[in-house]
Amino acid sequence: MSMSKPVSMETIVSLAKRRGFVFPSSEIYGGLASAWDYGPLGSELKNRVQRKWWREMTQLHDNIVGLDASILMHPRVWEASGHVDNFSDVMVEDTITNERFRWDHLTEVQRENRTSPAGNPLSEPRAFNLMFETHLGPTSSGQKVYLRPETAQGIYVNFKNVVQTSRLKIPFGIAQVGKAFRNEIVTKNFIFRTCEFEQLEMQYFVKPGEDEKWFDYWKEQRIRYYDSVGIRPDRLRFKPHGPDELAHYAKAAFDIEYEFPFGWQELEGIHNRTDYDLSRHSEFSGKDLRYLDEEQKERYLPYIVETSAGLTRSVLMVLCDAYDEEEVADGDVRTVLRFHPDLAPITLGVFPLVKKDGLAELAREIEAELRDDYTTFYDQGGAIGRRYRRQDEVGTPFCVTVDYDSKDDGTVTLRFRDSMEQVRVHRSELSERIRAEIKAYRRVGV
Ligand code: ATP
Repeated sequence: MSMSKPVSMETIVSLAKRRGFVFPSSEIYGGLASAWDYGPLGSELKNRVQRKWWREMTQLHDNIVGLDASILMHPRVWEASGHVDNFSDVMVEDTITNERFRWDHLTEVQRENRTSPAGNPLSEPRAFNLMFETHLGPTSSGQKVYLRPETAQGIYVNFKNVVQTSRLKIPFGIAQVGKAFRNEIVTKNFIFRTCEFEQLEMQYFVKPGEDEKWFDYWKEQRIRYYDSVGIRPDRLRFKPHGPDELAHYAKAAFDIEYEFPFGWQELEGIHNRTDYDLSRHSEFSGKDLRYLDEEQKERYLPYIVETSAGLTRSVLMVLCDAYDEEEVADGDVRTVLRFHPDLAPITLGVFPLVKKDGLAELAREIEAELRDDYTTFYDQGGAIGRRYRRQDEVGTPFCVTVDYDSKDDGTVTLRFRDSMEQVRVHRSELSERIRAEIKAYRRVGV
């Protein structure tokens, strides 16, 4: 029986370390606070989460194109965007322990009494800009530049380039994946909030007046997307931003929240940014960024509906969501990561039942045949049951075992991660069968 009770963060962090998903950064030097490295399985998982999103945006929508802008941008970009003046959080310090807190993360009572969660007096609140600064050139007197705190601005400043070089007509979108940097006052919860992270952002340019329609469209699309990658619907919800929570550029905003082990938290933001961004960049750059609607013979600044998710935060969500412990036959409990097969770092484990009698060679041969189509993993060590468990624990959806019958009739055992069922399949039909299984995949118990 599956136990879909929420997993603890300790369990996730330790599994991630033990199986090579995520390591502390520079660990041999004692680590760097809240910086993390993605290991062999983690980098594969992150790439797959990214590719799935990219495919969803650019391949399954015919009017969304990709972009890959640089991290360093002209410093005026961040003046126009409002980040130089507004991108700050208010920080307070516990005057006894020196622990720092974000003012908006304290409870109302703590704010009113000016006390920390430990009950100690707090310092005066002060604003702290989250952008990392550096300098171009060999001396510190070089031009001041920032590490981008979001990928969106790279899209806005390329709006005209994209319009001129593609034949896209409004409405259309530009999608981008990339690193962003924020000098967060408090980083915590593993890879949930870090100073260096990756974003999955899509900016959708629409005609003013049609923005509300597209805002609703993207809310619906994004929830549907999470369902299509097998995320438990009962752990996802929309949270509207109240009028006092709206960012300076936003007309309306919803977060998609996920129920992490430490509570409901933002996974993705969907924002109606109006024409704020393009009008600011027009003003600051002196360039006319209006769109020419050739049919209507009018020029206007498009409104923007944005979907902005964290890639690294999504990896944490996918790990937490996939985690399951299941009681199997003899009271034994197996750990299984129920990744959608498109997200699983390894798609297919291939094992010889035993190493001898030519089975290892045959299994290697079958694995080589399937490599072209799937990410495979060959394992000949230990009892077969243990090999299955090792793959369950890293979320491998399919395993193939080659045995003595395989030598005679060319059939192998195909074993499914979720149901643990086993079927006999001819090796020549394996690739197609697995493809069909992936297409038909539905998460169990959801
Ligand atoms: P918060 O108020 O929690 O600091 P935010 O609302 O300013 O965050 P956005 O600017 O909307 O966040 O960022 C879009 C997405 O980028 C978020 O939904 C989140 O998934 C991701 N993200 C933002 N900050 C971080 C971070 N420090 N670490 C990891 N992911 C982040």
